[in-house]
Amino acid sequence: ASGSDENDVVVIGGGPGGYVAAIKAAQLGLKTTCIEKRGTLGGTCLNVGCIPSKALLHSSHMYHEAKHSFASHGVKLSSVEVDLPAMMAQKDKAVSNLTKGIEGLFKKNKVNYVKGYGKFLSPSEVTVDTLDGGNTIVKGKNIIIATGSDVKSLPGITIDEERIVSSTGALALTEVPKKLIVIGAGYIGLEMGSVWGRLGSEVTVVEFAPDIVPTMDGEIRKQFQRSLEKQKMKFMLKTKVVSVDTTGSGVKLIVEPAAGGDQTTLEADVVLVSAGRTPFTAGLQLEKLGVETDKAGRILVNERFATNVSGVYAIGDVIPGPMLAHKAEEDGVACVEYIAGKEGHVDYDMVPGVVYTHPEVAYVGKTEEQVKALGVDYHVGKFPFLANSRAKAIDDAEGLVKILAEKETDKILGVHIMAPNAGELIHEAVLALQYGASSEDIARTCHAHPTMSEALKEAAMATYDKPIHI
Ligand code: FAD
Repeated sequence: ASGSDENDVVVIGGGPGGYVAAIKAAQLGLKTTCIEKRGTLGGTCLNVGCIPSKALLHSSHMYHEAKHSFASHGVKLSSVEVDLPAMMAQKDKAVSNLTKGIEGLFKKNKVNYVKGYGKFLSPSEVTVDTLDGGNTIVKGKNIIIATGSDVKSLPGITIDEERIVSSTGALALTEVPKKLIVIGAGYIGLEMGSVWGRLGSEVTVVEFAPDIVPTMDGEIRKQFQRSLEKQKMKFMLKTKVVSVDTTGSGVKLIVEPAAGGDQTTLEADVVLVSAGRTPFTAGLQLEKLGVETDKAGRILVNERFATNVSGVYAIGDVIPGPMLAHKAEEDGVACVEYIAGKEGHVDYDMVPGVVYTHPEVAYVGKTEEQVKALGVDYHVGKFPFLANSRAKAIDDAEGLVKILAEKETDKILGVHIMAPNAGELIHEAVLALQYGASSEDIARTCHAHPTMSEALKEAAMATYDKPIHI
C-alpha cells in the first residue's frame, strides 16, 4: 500500500506515542497511515528500551535470587551459571513477539503501515524513502510527529556500542564486563547497572548532580541509594567526567569533582553513557515548515498537541514533559481525540514514574520537597514493608510507602513506594490522585490480606489517623 490517497491522519513514528495514536485514530473512524523507519513497530520502548530492559532485569533477578536467596528458602542448587546467549535470546523473543503483535493490531484496525524515513514536503505531505529503496508520498489532513528521542552523548565521548555503550549497547553485551562504569544516575543507568551488577559486574555510577534520580522524593531516594549500595553498586556523585581514553585494552575514565579539584582515573571494561535523551527530529525538515522548537530541540505544542503550523501535531518524547512510554501513549490518544473533534486530556502531574530495580521505586504526584515549596500544610503517613505480613512471608521486605496529604482537606498530594513490586502497587495511588481521593478514602477501602497493597492502606491510616500494624 502506498498510502498516496489522502489520509485523515498520518503519524510519523511507530513508537508508543505514534502506534497508539494510529490505532486510536483508526478506531475513531479516521483513515490513518503510520510511517516508521526502523523496520519494526514499537519505537525505542519496545525495541531498545522498556521491554528489553525489563526482560533482562527479570532474568538477572532470577539468577541473583537462585545464587543468593534460594538456599535460605530451602531450595538447594548444586550450581548456578549465567548463560548469556540464552538470556539475550529470551529478551529478543519477547521483543519480536511484541513488535509483531503491533503489526497485527495495525491490520486488525486497518492502519496503513509504511516502512521508511518520512520527511515533510508541506504541512499536508510527507515524502517517504521506503526501506525497500523506493519513495512514496503520503498525504494527510493532519500529520502527527511522533519521532521520539535518541541517546544523548557527552562532549568528547564517542559511543562505539562495544566498550563505550549507550543503553542500546548495554542491552546486548556479549559478555559480562568485570568492571562497568555508568555515567548518569537516572533510572536507565540504575536499571542497566542493576542488570550487569547482578550478573557479576563491579558497577560504579558517576553522576554530576548531588543526587541520583532527581525526580524522586528525597527521603525515598536516600533509602533507595542505600539499598543499591548494599547490592554493591558504588556511587560517585557530584563528579564530572573529563575525558575518556580507549587506547588501551579497557577504558580509562578521567573524572574530577563537579566543583573542581583533583582528577582521578577510573578503569573499566565497559562504560555506559546514560546521561539523558534528546528529542529526535533529524531529517524531518521541520525548518522548511517553520515548526517551532525550544532550546533543547523539543517541538512546542499547545494543550491540543498542535504545533504553530496548522494541521501539524506532535506527541511523546519529542515534546516537553516526562520522557516515558505511558505519557507518550496518553498524548497520542488525546491528540487524536482532538483531531476527531472530541475532548482529550493528559495531566502530566498524574503520570507515575517507576524505577524497575529491586526493590522498585514508584511514585505519583508531588514529592515532600515540592509540597514544602508550595507552602501547603500537609500530613505525612508512612508504613514500612518490614511490618507487612506478605512481605515478611516471602522474605522480601525492604522499603516503605509514604503518602503526603493536604492537612486541611486530607486530599492526597503524592504517593511514593519502594517495594519489590512498587510499579504495580502505585496504580491504586494514581487512581486515588486522579479522583481527588483523601488518605481516609484509601484507609477505609478494604484490601485483601495478605498482600503488599495493605501497606498502602496502612500508610493511608498513618496519614489521617493511626496505622494498626506498627
Ligand atoms: P520512540 O519510542 O522513540 O519512537 C519514535 C519512533 O519514530 C522510532 O521508532 C523511530 O525509528 C521513528 N522515527 C523517527 N523519525 C522518523 C522519521 N523521520 N520517519 C519515520 N520514522 C521515524 N519508558 C517507560 O515508560 N518505562 C520504561 O520502563 C522505560 N524504559 C526505558 C529503558 C531504556 C533503556 C530507554 C532508552 C527508554 C526507556 N523508556 C521507558 C522511555 C521510552 O522508551 C520512551 O519514553 C518512549 O519510547 C517514547 O515514545 P515515543 O513514541 O515518543 O518515541
